[in-house]
Amino acid sequence: MMTRRLALSLLMGSVLLAATPLSALAQSTDKLKVVATFSILGDLVRNVGGERIEVTTLVGPNGDAHVYSPTPADGRRLTEAKIVFTNGLGFEGWIDRLVKSSGTKAVAIQAAKGVKPLKSEEEGHGHDHHGGFDPHAWQNVANAKIYVANIRDVLIASDAAGKATYEANATAYLAKLDGVDDEIKTAIARIPADRRKIITSHDAFRYFEAAYGIEFISPQGVSTDAEASARDVAKIIQQIKREKIKAVFVENVTDPRLMDRIAKETGAKIGEPVFSDALSDSTGPAGTYIDMMRHNIRAFSSALSS
Ligand SMILES: [Zn+2]
Repeated sequence: MMTRRLALSLLMGSVLLAATPLSALAQSTDKLKVVATFSILGDLVRNVGGERIEVTTLVGPNGDAHVYSPTPADGRRLTEAKIVFTNGLGFEGWIDRLVKSSGTKAVAIQAAKGVKPLKSEEEGHGHDHHGGFDPHAWQNVANAKIYVANIRDVLIASDAAGKATYEANATAYLAKLDGVDDEIKTAIARIPADRRKIITSHDAFRYFEAAYGIEFISPQGVSTDAEASARDVAKIIQQIKREKIKAVFVENVTDPRLMDRIAKETGAKIGEPVFSDALSDSTGPAGTYIDMMRHNIRAFSSALSS
C-alpha cells in the first residue's frame, strides 16, 4: 500500500514537473508576496512590481471596501505577505483590526501617504472611522502617481535586488498615467462649461472634481455605509430640475435604486455605470486603473455632450 501510494505520488510529482518549466517553479516561490486591500490599488502595485511580486487583493472587482467584512482567509493572506498596501485616509476601516488579529509581520504601507487630502464634507452623518478625510484620492491621476512612487519605494526597500526593475516599471507606468491625465483634461475641455455637473450616488469623485473641474453632487456621503437622507435627496431633485442637470450616474459599488428614483422624478437620464472604488472584472470596461479612468471620462463626456 505504502509503495503504491509512494509510486503514485512520485508519478504525479513527475507529471507536475514535466508540465511546469523549472524556471516557473523557481519564480513562483521566489516572488515577493504582497497584499493590496482593494482592486484599484492591486492594479497599481502589479504595474510596479511586475513579475517579481505576487499580489493578492482582499476586496476584489466590484467589491465595496468601505463596508468589507474580512474573512479568516484574509488573515492568512496577511500572514504570508511581506508588504500590506492600504489606501489610508480612513478608507479601509477594518484593516487595522485585521492586521492586528492576523499577527502578520508584514510592513503596512499607506499608498496615499503624501497626497494632499480633501476634508470630508459630511455633516452629521457620523463617519468617525473616516477621520474626517475623503479617501478617494486615486480619482485624481496626479495622486495615483504619488501612490506609484510610494509603492516603488517600499518594494525597493523590501527587495533591493529588484531595484532596477521596480524603477523601470514605475517610470514606464508613470509616463502612461501622464498620458491618461492629458486625455481626461482634453475630454473635459470639449464639454461646454455650463454642463460640467454630474450626479453620482456616493461622493467618490471630489478629487476628480478638484483636479479636472467637473462638479459632482451626491445624495450619499463619502462612504457607502451612509443612507442618503430624505432631505438630501429632495434637495438634489430640486437642484437637478433647477439647473437642468442632464445625467445621473451609478457607481459599480452602490445600490442603483436611489438613482433610478431620482432619474424618474427629474427626467435626467442614467449614464453608463461608472467605476469609483473598485475595478470591473477583467472582462469588463474597467479591468485596470487606466481603463477605469478612460471609461469614466468617456461615460461623463458622452452624457454631458449629447
Ligand atoms: Zn467610496
